[in-house]
Amino acid sequence: MTATPSPTRKCLYCTETKPLNAFNTEHVVPVAFGTFGSDTMTISCVCIDCNTKYFGTQIEPKLSRDSIEGVMRFNSGLKSVQSYRHLGKRATLRVEVVDGPFVGAQVFLCPPAAGDQLMLVPPPQIGIARSEGEPLKWYRLDEESLPPNDEIKKAFGQQPFVQLWGISYDEALPFLESRGVKSSGWTAGPMANAGDRMATNIIGQVERKHLRTIAKIAFNYFAFHFEGLAFLEQFDRIRRFVRHDEGNGLVNFAEKPLVVGDPVPQGHAVGIQWDGEHNRCWAQVTLFNTWHYNVLLMAKGFSVLVPPTICGHFFDPKAQTVRRIVPIGAGSVQWRSAD
Ligand SMILES: [Zn+2]
Repeated sequence: MTATPSPTRKCLYCTETKPLNAFNTEHVVPVAFGTFGSDTMTISCVCIDCNTKYFGTQIEPKLSRDSIEGVMRFNSGLKSVQSYRHLGKRATLRVEVVDGPFVGAQVFLCPPAAGDQLMLVPPPQIGIARSEGEPLKWYRLDEESLPPNDEIKKAFGQQPFVQLWGISYDEALPFLESRGVKSSGWTAGPMANAGDRMATNIIGQVERKHLRTIAKIAFNYFAFHFEGLAFLEQFDRIRRFVRHDEGNGLVNFAEKPLVVGDPVPQGHAVGIQWDGEHNRCWAQVTLFNTWHYNVLLMAKGFSVLVPPTICGHFFDPKAQTVRRIVPIGAGSVQWRSAD
């Protein structure tokens, strides 16, 4: 008697052959960025070890919780602002005040007590200048960033102008004195009022985990449409970049929306173009369509000529729909709605 071998399949990312029950549903666009009803694109060729145990815990949270695109999920109304969680000390996302008396100071995004916009909350910090009206240099009091008293005097003179933010003078003085900072002779600026409006810039550092998640969206999308091709060795570079953090230069940033329109549509998009002449395959990816990324999926070419193929979709997280997009012209990197 021979046992019937249980059915197996190969994982798109680790390329191991495993029984079918070792696979689950991988979403082309991570669920954190929305679902799209019956139009939701999923693939079933990614194993649980890659999808849930690795991407879901090690890679994707960086993009959904510590990037500007991650914050856009809340400001676009896709996610409830009450559920916003900052990555804390591991976070690289910063918000800086760019205008007014607090210019250069840092603020954190926090869930509001009420309302639908993320709140800006300053960590305790001190701004120091030689005199009032000069730009303040800010030091966080909850980090070891404040220089010793003699260095402060050297940099800012004997009577520096100081401004506290996120902490009261009563709370700050004992701390500053314990650090050898003498408060006598200071000129202190006024406290900020809750509700003061300030211009801010969100500064996101693009890290490899961000780029790998973007590349995964591109490659998932490719596999959704061309699953057979995605397993070929020509795609090993992008596969290994996403799964094993190997290789460089496969993703670059472009500072314009991917999908044009009036108004510019708000949502995610992926487009694929085969460059038959150079035997390359590019994808373009955007989340929220403020800027986009170019992802080189394949550059080694095929020995058999592949006809140029164009394929693109726009994902609307509010309407929960998906629609086709086409390049705005031959060889263009920007796309428009197909109808
Ligand atoms: Zn796998």
